[in-house]
Amino acid sequence: MAALTEFELIDRFFRRPCRSAVLGVGDDAALLRPSLGCEIAVSVDMLVAGRHFFEDVDPESLGHKTLAVNLSDMAAMGATPRWALLAGALPQARSEWLAAFARGFFALADAHGVELVGGDTTRGPLTLCVTIIGEVPQGQALRRSGAKPGDAIWVSGPLGDAALAVAHRSRDIELTSAELASCERALQRPNARVALGERLRAVATAAIDLSDGLTGDLGHVMEESHVGARVRLAAIPRSAAMETRLRGPHREAALRCLLAGGDDYELCFTAPTKRSAQVEALGRELGLGLACIGTVTEGSTLLIDDETGHRLARVPRAFDHFAQ
Ligand code: ADP
Ligand code: MG
Repeated sequence: MAALTEFELIDRFFRRPCRSAVLGVGDDAALLRPSLGCEIAVSVDMLVAGRHFFEDVDPESLGHKTLAVNLSDMAAMGATPRWALLAGALPQARSEWLAAFARGFFALADAHGVELVGGDTTRGPLTLCVTIIGEVPQGQALRRSGAKPGDAIWVSGPLGDAALAVAHRSRDIELTSAELASCERALQRPNARVALGERLRAVATAAIDLSDGLTGDLGHVMEESHVGARVRLAAIPRSAAMETRLRGPHREAALRCLLAGGDDYELCFTAPTKRSAQVEALGRELGLGLACIGTVTEGSTLLIDDETGHRLARVPRAFDHFAQ
């Protein structure tokens, strides 16, 4: 089959009838009409092969994840995602690969009512970059800066499974094939907690999505809010695979995955304790296992109590994309 030109590629895989935008793919810029009374939330996230994903990853999952990590940023702001732009550098234009990528991307976009309104396409080392645009009622966005001493700290689901899948690849931890399948799913098909973020507008004092690991991301909330935190290790939700590893000979590696593993995309948020029953009800309504993992404190330190109530001596640090 003849190689696709840049414009054939865009038309074939990324141009779809315009729905919610005034003008979508095909012109020099898209035209968007924001809803009355809303602020625009906008964010960009880049995924680089070899750094953020394995080069040989299944393209449909990559399409899903490329958008999911951006939806997660909207969720963390309490924003409703509406539009996206997709910039991609591709080593070659392979139809099968592109069709699978687009399938994964648009399935998730459609599930969230998000419209792809533009992008940029070039040849180059595999890199994908999505700009996401969402809306949030004026003044209601969730920020990192609102946590208050005494607030409860919550996470929206089990942590560390994506990192377990990566640790299995690097042979730091060995998973059974069933465990590997479920951890790979966490790594490749993360769920963005958009509905939760929207509902937390009226409840949470601060929020962040866990893309780089709990200790680092909670650390960002602490810095922005000028507070400390005390977390109970035993209260952090985890899978059976994680629980087994925490009790086994590779506890240290498992702890790193649980506390500092990236790519979870659960939300971490704070809320006044008088809201705890409301948060629990919200979790039941949305079918999410929301768990209270600790308390916001005065000061600036992060303390983690282990299962026996002793302070964890070494707190694993978060993933640093700039590390060599
Ligand atoms: P320009 O030369 O003005 O930058 P391009 O020729 O790069 O425009 O792109 C043509 C149209 O296709 C534009 O509307 C652009 O937003 C859109 N587009 C390009 N690449 C993508 C992509 N990967 N996904 C969606 N839209 C894209
Ligand atoms: Mg261009």
